[in-house]
Amino acid sequence: MDCLFCKIIAGEIPSAKVYEDEYVYAFRDIHPQAPVHVLVIPKTHIDSADCLTEETAHLAAEVFAALPKVARACGLVNGYRVITNVGEDGCQSVRHMHFHLLGGKKLPEQMS
Ligand code: AMP
Repeated sequence: MDCLFCKIIAGEIPSAKVYEDEYVYAFRDIHPQAPVHVLVIPKTHIDSADCLTEETAHLAAEVFAALPKVARACGLVNGYRVITNVGEDGCQSVRHMHFHLLGGKKLPEQMS
């Protein structure tokens, strides 16, 4: 499958890894929008959160189970924001479900 994030998981494209377990991979966003900007992704490919079903919801659960560990690995002790963009209107540019973990400063209240 020609998926950028699958290639990153496979090590075919370099990334700045901050956390990895059996199900999840987390790495620094190449264009950070906050002092800490990490992408947390399931190792199993799924296009977006809009594709989740009862059978695949565990992929999102595994990401969320890893989030506190990723946040601690990044030194985030005072909160952070988690965002997933979905589809065209959500401005999703990479079609492998991913969660932006943003922090390291007081983030703006406005989200859109
Ligand atoms: P989205 O726009 O929600 O699909 O987010 C995709 C994110 O992937 C963007 O924030 C990009 O900066 C980031 N990105 C694209 N290519 C890479 C890469 N090779 N390494 C790290 N982050 C990347």
